[in-house]
Amino acid sequence: MQYLAKRYNFISLNRLVTAIEKKDWSKIPSKALVVTIDDGHMGNFRLLESIKKYQVHPTIYLCSHIIGTNRHFWWKSGYQNIKEMKSLPHRDMLQKLRTQADYWPEKEYDSRQALNISEINAMQSFVDFQSHSKFHPVLINCPDNVSLDEIKGSKSKLEKILNQSVTHFSYPNGDYSQREIDFLKKCGYKSYLEIGTKADATFSRIEIENKIGLEPRAKNGEKNIISKTSDDYFKDLDGNVKFDIKVNPSF
Ligand SMILES: [Zn+2]
Repeated sequence: MQYLAKRYNFISLNRLVTAIEKKDWSKIPSKALVVTIDDGHMGNFRLLESIKKYQVHPTIYLCSHIIGTNRHFWWKSGYQNIKEMKSLPHRDMLQKLRTQADYWPEKEYDSRQALNISEINAMQSFVDFQSHSKFHPVLINCPDNVSLDEIKGSKSKLEKILNQSVTHFSYPNGDYSQREIDFLKKCGYKSYLEIGTKADATFSRIEIENKIGLEPRAKNGEKNIISKTSDDYFKDLDGNVKFDIKVNPSF
């Protein structure tokens, strides 16, 4: 954080989305940086002192039905072939995780992997908490009703926990289709964050290794990512937002 604070001006996601919506970049400082972290791993709590000290205003996208419980993230279940999991229809994926790793999404383990509610409450003044689905499925492999429920259900649960509106979404595993965009819009989200390293990605990101109190990177490559922007990336475009926050113009 110290390294980044010296080189960038931290801004909140909301500030950026407002600028994109209004097409008014005058309030965005040069070398602006939005910090986002996915999942809500319990280790994120150790970042709080640095977040306060450097006024980072990060966004942490939470899995609403894993935080505050002893439920685990599916890719940390011990099942080795994560790539295969991501290619299966949702039902088959769950069945395989259950039979081969004794994992199911609502199973309560002896210990937790995610932030608990008191940690979230302690962080809430300094961190913008948003949605990363309920259980982190591969949305594009889910039937319509499951995908919608993940998007809608995570918003309503988080709004109850946080007592504030939740309008930003980060796709689990970075996977989405037009259907997910439509669901987000229907549910009242304002922006979504695309995670991943797709070849056609038009944005620049800095990935931060586990040196600053984040959870160790999982074997399958699930990453804690710091999103970066600067005025270089969005000022010179003809109405196209070239940045890692993709805002549907009609939102
Ligand atoms: Zn994730």
